[in-house]
This record gives sequence, C-alpha cells and structure tokens, in this order.
Amino acid sequence: MRLFVTLLITFLPLWGVEGYRGKSVLITFPSPSGIVVTADKNISVLSHPAERSLGIAIVPINYYTPEGIYPMSWIAPGREVPLDLNVAAPFYPTETLSVDPAKVTPPPEALERIEQEKAEAHTIYNTFTPIRYWDKPFIRPLETDITSFYGSARTYNGTLKSYHGGVDFRARTPLPILAANDGIVVLVKDRYYAGGTVILDHGEGLYSCYFHLSRYNVSVGDRVTRGQILGMSGATGRITGPHLHFGLMVHGIQTDPLHLIEQINTLFKKESDEPVAAR
Ligand SMILES: [Zn+2]
Repeated sequence: MRLFVTLLITFLPLWGVEGYRGKSVLITFPSPSGIVVTADKNISVLSHPAERSLGIAIVPINYYTPEGIYPMSWIAPGREVPLDLNVAAPFYPTETLSVDPAKVTPPPEALERIEQEKAEAHTIYNTFTPIRYWDKPFIRPLETDITSFYGSARTYNGTLKSYHGGVDFRARTPLPILAANDGIVVLVKDRYYAGGTVILDHGEGLYSCYFHLSRYNVSVGDRVTRGQILGMSGATGRITGPHLHFGLMVHGIQTDPLHLIEQINTLFKKESDEPVAAR
C-alpha cells in the first residue's frame, strides 16, 4: 500500500485534471491533508466520506471561465504536487423565456431590496463552516421530470441575457421539497428573483438552494436530515410557471448540481475507494 501511494504521488502531476465550465471537479488525494492552490483561491483537502485515509477536494469552475489550462498545486506537509486543470466547454443549450417584465427591469423601489438579497446570499455562500454535516450520499429534492438543466444560455423577454444556475424540476401542483442531505437551515425568505427560498449549509463550503417555494416547513437554525420536507413547491419569484429550482454552491461558485451530486455519490461506491488523480 505504501509503495502504491508513493507511486501515486509520483504520477499525480502527469495526470492532470479534466474539467468543464460550470461544473465542479472532485479530486481524490492519497491523504486528507493540505490545500489545493488555484489561481484565485485555496481549497482545503477534506476527508473522503467513505475512506478516512484518503482526501478529497471539490474545485468549482465558474460558468464564464474561458477554456484553457489552469495550473494548480496540491500542497501538503512535505510535498508540493503540480496539477494542471484543463477546462473544456460542454454543450449548453439556449432558452428563451417570457416572465413578468418587473422581474427583468425591476422598478426603482425594488433595487435596494435586490441589492440586499444579493449581498446576503454572497455572504452566506462565501462562509466556510469547518464541519461536515452529512455522511451519506445526496438525493434529489424532488423526483419529477427535469424541465431545464444547469447551464442553458437564457434570454428573458428578448433582452436580459443570463444562464441557468441550477436545475428545474416539474411541479405543476405544490409538491413536498426534500432536503438533499443533512445540514443546517441558513436562510428562509421570500426573495425578489428566487421567490420563496430555503438555503441549507452542508458544511465545508457546500450549500443547497431551493427556490420558488410556496410554503416553508423549516426555520433558520434548524438542523435537518436528508429527505426531510423543507416546504412546498410553488410559483414565486422570476418564473414562467410553477416549478422547483434546485442549486448547489461550492466555495461561493454556482455549480451544476446534478453533476456534483453524481461525483460525490460515486465516493460511496466500493470501486471509488482507490485514490485517483481526477475523476
Ligand atoms: Zn431554475
């Protein structure tokens, strides 16, 4: 095993890491120590949820990151291992949406509220809680059809250009919305664009977000468990119709939630217990 780990460390720099705009890269390390240094942030290497001798790091890639090679390094006691992050552009479809004009060009009296909500969310997402609240795989908050995936290039009312920062689940009638994993409720609020909102802190820089809700079953500060009902879906905020918008934030970056859940859940499968440089 020791020889294997030594060989692995030797080969890590040769492998590099493949990633995509808007998606997170989950890297497994031979020990749960050190940090990954990227161009703009240091990301802690955390313990592997199923194999405590290994480490993991979740490196989010901003949606607007240009394609290219970005040097990173893993710095742990006694070693510094260079790792190239090769960012490619996945295919994202385009969508045109018609919404309430006030949700595209807000009235002047709404601007202060919008700014406050934006600042509040920014503070939450950039708060690193050094505790992991979950120890099981993640689940979807709703088991209905997906009506819009993460990453679609969107145009609202023919003018406002944006992209879809989460995934939308069909919910024509109010449906119970489930916590994707254990965590702490850090925000319950009606917001201008997101409508009825619940945000959960899962610890270690990972947050899940549930938008457009019509009712809440939880309050700020509650400790919730995976599958617990957070509230009911609805049609509040900037919407074309009733649905659930579900998002994940990692180290302050909006990431493809289903892609990240799939990677995290793979860690719980036996074959993933061998450390690899990238996946
Ligand atoms: Zn959405």
